[in-house]
Amino acid sequence: MQAHVIRAIFVLAAATCSSAWAQPVKITPLGSHTGELCMRDRATIFEDPTGLRILYDAGQSVTGADDPRLGKIDVVILSHAHGDHIGDLKMKALDGGTCDNPLVVSAAPNSTTTEIAAAKNAAVIMVVPLANFIGRKVESIRGKPTMACSQTGADIVGPLAAPCLATVQTGGTRTVKASATSKAVEITAVPAAHDSTVPIALLGEAERKYLEPDSVSLILGPPSGYVIRFTNGLTAYLTGDTGLHAEMQVVERDFYKANLMELNLGQSALTPEAAAYAVNTLVQPAAVILSHVNEAATAGGKVRPTTRSAAFITLVQGRPGYPALSGKTMEFDGAGKCVAGC
Ligand SMILES: [Zn+2]
Ligand SMILES: [Zn+2]
Repeated sequence: MQAHVIRAIFVLAAATCSSAWAQPVKITPLGSHTGELCMRDRATIFEDPTGLRILYDAGQSVTGADDPRLGKIDVVILSHAHGDHIGDLKMKALDGGTCDNPLVVSAAPNSTTTEIAAAKNAAVIMVVPLANFIGRKVESIRGKPTMACSQTGADIVGPLAAPCLATVQTGGTRTVKASATSKAVEITAVPAAHDSTVPIALLGEAERKYLEPDSVSLILGPPSGYVIRFTNGLTAYLTGDTGLHAEMQVVERDFYKANLMELNLGQSALTPEAAAYAVNTLVQPAAVILSHVNEAATAGGKVRPTTRSAAFITLVQGRPGYPALSGKTMEFDGAGKCVAGC
């Protein structure tokens, strides 16, 4: 091959490579109150440059499947069965109530996770017992069985014609493409130190009667976090609810080399000091997004100085910490740098 042809191919390859790297992943928190980070906020949408859209922990800060902010959802992931994540409650209306006490109504018996997976024909990617529980509820909404997702080679290829289950165990990976010609996004369930008991209101009557006398709960498998490797190279570690654990270093930093972290604060699991240690020492991402704060963390989109969220952000060093402001889309490049909206 002649030198100028080789050089042309090389230039073309470099251009293709750098443009894919330069396209950002769009991250949009769906909280209870527009522009704020509030008490019940958990839900986050991740949009890959290929158009693949992933909903993480639908929770209680959406109105359900009819929430206009959802749009197309290709994949639903869920860290554990607790009500504030699976969505045993939902917003009565967007911006209803106050930031520290949003106005919610019951989402039983289905949950927001189920409603959305059923309405959006999403691939349900989560640990087996949790996926089976959601799958059965999707079945009751649609009146037909929820099948395992079909694959083309190793990949699930969107858009899907029906909701489906793509189960994993802790450590398991699924790859999903927005279309047959897209690159795949890799989604892996990773360990969390927490539990995964399901709200009693989401169970059938027979089971409720059986469990209530002893005040015991059903556990739907282990809790998890996720690592998502997007097609621009961004590798996001979503902690789920968790205490500190050594896997943050050996799994998320050393092996996956996560360069962005979405961290769940939460009073019962992580102090601001412990959360900052996870970021600064264990995971060392390029940036961290703060969610699950269980307080009205912001007013007018600014972190309120007396909050635990403010204490955490002050303790984060050597990298930016961004509050997950509802409806505000942040764009991240492949290296974990926020390039717009932060
Ligand atoms: Zn929890
Ligand atoms: Zn929680």
